[in-house]
Amino acid sequence: MTVVSYDAVVIGGGGAGLRTAIEIAQDTSLKVAVVSKVYPTRSHTGAAQGGMNAALGNVVPDDNPEAHAFDTIKGSDFLADQDAVFFMTEKAPEIIYELDRWGVPFSRLEDGRIAQRPFGGASFPRTVYAADKTGHVLLHTLFEQALSKENIDFFNEFFLLDLIHDGGRVKGVSLYDIKRGEVIFIRSKAVVLATGGFARIYWFRSTNAVGNTGDGQAVALRRGVPLKDVEFIQFHPTGLAKTGILLSEACRGEGGYLVNRLGERFMKRYAPEKMELAPRDMVSRAIEFEIREGRGVGEGARAYVYLDLRHLGEEKIKERLPQVRQLAIDFEGVDPVKDLVPIRPTAHYCMGGIHVVDYKTSQTSIEGLYAVGECACVSVHGANRLGGNSLTELIVFGKYCGQAVREFVKEVDFLNVSEGETSTGKDLIENLLKREGKESLAEIRAQMGEITWAKMGIFRDEKSLKEAYEELSELLQRWENIPVVDKSKVFNTNLIETLELRNMLELARAVALCALNRRESRGGHSREDYPERDDKNFLKHTLVYYENGDLKIEYIPVRITKFQPTERKY
Ligand SMILES: Cc1cc2nc3c(=O)[nH]c(=O)nc-3n(C[C@H](O)[C@H](O)[C@H](O)COP(=O)(O)OP(=O)(O)OC[C@H]3O[C@@H](n4cnc5c(N)ncnc54)[C@H](O)[C@@H]3O)c2cc1C
Repeated sequence: MTVVSYDAVVIGGGGAGLRTAIEIAQDTSLKVAVVSKVYPTRSHTGAAQGGMNAALGNVVPDDNPEAHAFDTIKGSDFLADQDAVFFMTEKAPEIIYELDRWGVPFSRLEDGRIAQRPFGGASFPRTVYAADKTGHVLLHTLFEQALSKENIDFFNEFFLLDLIHDGGRVKGVSLYDIKRGEVIFIRSKAVVLATGGFARIYWFRSTNAVGNTGDGQAVALRRGVPLKDVEFIQFHPTGLAKTGILLSEACRGEGGYLVNRLGERFMKRYAPEKMELAPRDMVSRAIEFEIREGRGVGEGARAYVYLDLRHLGEEKIKERLPQVRQLAIDFEGVDPVKDLVPIRPTAHYCMGGIHVVDYKTSQTSIEGLYAVGECACVSVHGANRLGGNSLTELIVFGKYCGQAVREFVKEVDFLNVSEGETSTGKDLIENLLKREGKESLAEIRAQMGEITWAKMGIFRDEKSLKEAYEELSELLQRWENIPVVDKSKVFNTNLIETLELRNMLELARAVALCALNRRESRGGHSREDYPERDDKNFLKHTLVYYENGDLKIEYIPVRITKFQPTERKY
């Protein structure tokens, strides 16, 4: 089997992975590998629409990093670690100007400065954007920068199988070459996990790319690295009714309304001041309440309310929201210029992820192992992320993680790896291809999608979560009996989807367990049996990890520096 050595390997070619790799590669004596299961420019970052937050103060000069930090912490329902939030908001302006110099074509004000639009939960127009294709231009610019570094090698269409460490330090990763059907091992002094989110566990209603299956988180979990706060899943208010495809928050940022069947702007009942620009957790719940009360259109799973953009006018819609318009036309058959758009909440983002121990470096509990981007939990989003803060997180923490990795790998030597350690991935693939059994991949995945939506979705309670945990545990067992029927070596999607399903089941089960144990409502986690936030008992982060084959839960304190928790009103 091929074993190669790199000073650092970054798993993920999205915004987080690329930004980190560019920074590590500043030291041209270092060899860096970037691994991605899809061609990097197809990573989910490219789907981001609305923009990224930084207190530039270009529209309202009063804006500043402290106001950005306060909005983020309030938005997080006070679960974010405040020192990490301040770190992000203070560094945010500098990384925007850096991206500007690298060539990201941000939309502009009349006078040529970078434009900023209002976004949910923000006190000022703070979201920097490029029409409604911000992620696309960001990802392509980063890829261009990464390509220009001669010391970065790309492993495109390679799939992370396993992660090897000795309990203290990381040793390398095992990868499956999707194009050739071979397993290789990369020995490395540092491994950065940047594999994105896992909101695809909500298989039938998610804004996420089908590849957002949380592979990095699942591999880390299986290898004893704790995950943090995974019970907090963000449901985005405006998914297209039929498909769950996202219509950006920029729709409301630009002035769009939400109306029920009666034509009422119902947000006045739930967030009289901020109205449609309240944070996503609140707006999503408000829509579901309207539907429950019979003020939506239709009933049950097919019910919806409307997004109304018509008053913005054709010119503004075409200039600021061209992609949104096209998505509505293509996938819902309505034109926002003249029609109401049927929408309903959809699974969108994972606030939780791999437990980052040190926000300045993004290191995890294992030396040399780092996590950045949506797969990580730093935590800056706490129980609810504000729109536009994820792209900012990728770039800020990617940059500083990259610096830390650069320093770290210069100080340490490679660890030895045994043959047993390098061959775990190969054994996994060989066993999968040999496997016989009667279970169906599509059926188990569909069952997972139904359980996650119905029992651990926007509303949850003790009974539904217990059932979800038990049923998902059973599905994980049944996964062992899914045969890989396609034995081919070249682009074996059957094999890849089988690996991804295991990762999703593993994570969905961890979400159910953490949600079951958090007996309060906070941010995106809404318990009908415990409707209030309970700071006395639950102002703390959940950690989940394996111990002797069982999932264990532990809690650690939230770092509160400046803003004491108060009731969250908008
Ligand atoms: C539709 C949509 C719109 C959004 N809009 C915004 C917005 O306007 N503003 C904002 O701030 N946030 C937005 N978000 C959230 C934000 O885009 C994401 O959180 C962020 O882009 C994630 O970046 P990432 O680099 O962590 O992961 P991703 O961009 O998802 O990249 C993950 C990378 O990991 C690789 N990978 C995964 N598994 C494996 C494996 N097993 N082996 C090898 N490689 C692997 C993938 O190939 C990919 O390259 C949006 C999200 C969605 C879904």
